[in-house]
Amino acid sequence: MRRLNRPPFAARDALNLCIASIRDEQLTSRLALICEQVAAAEAAYIQHGDQQELFQIPQTLGIGDVSADEMKRVYKDTFAKSARTRNIYDKIKKLPANDTCPICGQRTVGSLDHYLAQSLHSALVVAPINLVPACNDCNKAKLDAQPGTAAEQTLHPYFDNVDDERWLYAAVELTNPASLRFYADPPADWHPVKRERVLNHFRKFGLGALYASHSGVELTNIRYGLQRIAERGTKEDIRAELLKRAESAKAAHINSWQTAMYHALAESDWFCTGGFN
Ligand SMILES: [Zn+2]
Repeated sequence: MRRLNRPPFAARDALNLCIASIRDEQLTSRLALICEQVAAAEAAYIQHGDQQELFQIPQTLGIGDVSADEMKRVYKDTFAKSARTRNIYDKIKKLPANDTCPICGQRTVGSLDHYLAQSLHSALVVAPINLVPACNDCNKAKLDAQPGTAAEQTLHPYFDNVDDERWLYAAVELTNPASLRFYADPPADWHPVKRERVLNHFRKFGLGALYASHSGVELTNIRYGLQRIAERGTKEDIRAELLKRAESAKAAHINSWQTAMYHALAESDWFCTGGFN
């Protein structure tokens, strides 16, 4: 999970821009009446998010005289499409560097995900702070379920920071060709809830299989270069090359699969003495 800056847009402004874009006056007059509730829901969200307690936000099925389905249509037909709000939508989508999905750190962002499901939280449907850029696979993997406990909450790129220490590791499998198995092992001195959330996140989004697949491609790509080093050097020359790559990957992202992969390869005597072939 990669941390993102919070979007610099207020829910009230997003709602007002939607209202200005909708022609149905009967609906816009009802939407105008929920502005205060939407702003209050956003303030409560930020407060709960800062306390790692978003799971405690009560569900709102409809808000004021606006039904849950109407709010969903406001998002789909207006917020995501109107020229007035598209600027907000696109800027949130562009928050991650290189369009990389902050949830998996690998695939390309496809759309915005409602962190708290729009079907369960009508007051938060157009709140930018509840909209997280995500790839289509991560978006689909997240069910519309309300997390029941702090540990069940998936990581939130605007509120969580799990890159203060390493938690993603890989183990070299002695297969032919070599392969890697990825696992999450957060530091033992982290708060149990933070540990549990990282483990849940890794499991829920299928990151082990995703990273194993990409590392397989990378192993194929580096084979020729390692064979050339081995022709004139020793296993320590191979190890030095892999460590150099590990340090470079770590400087970019401490918990990327590349960091985990190159550290595991450098530490494997089997790999450095010909396992790369
Ligand atoms: Zn993703």
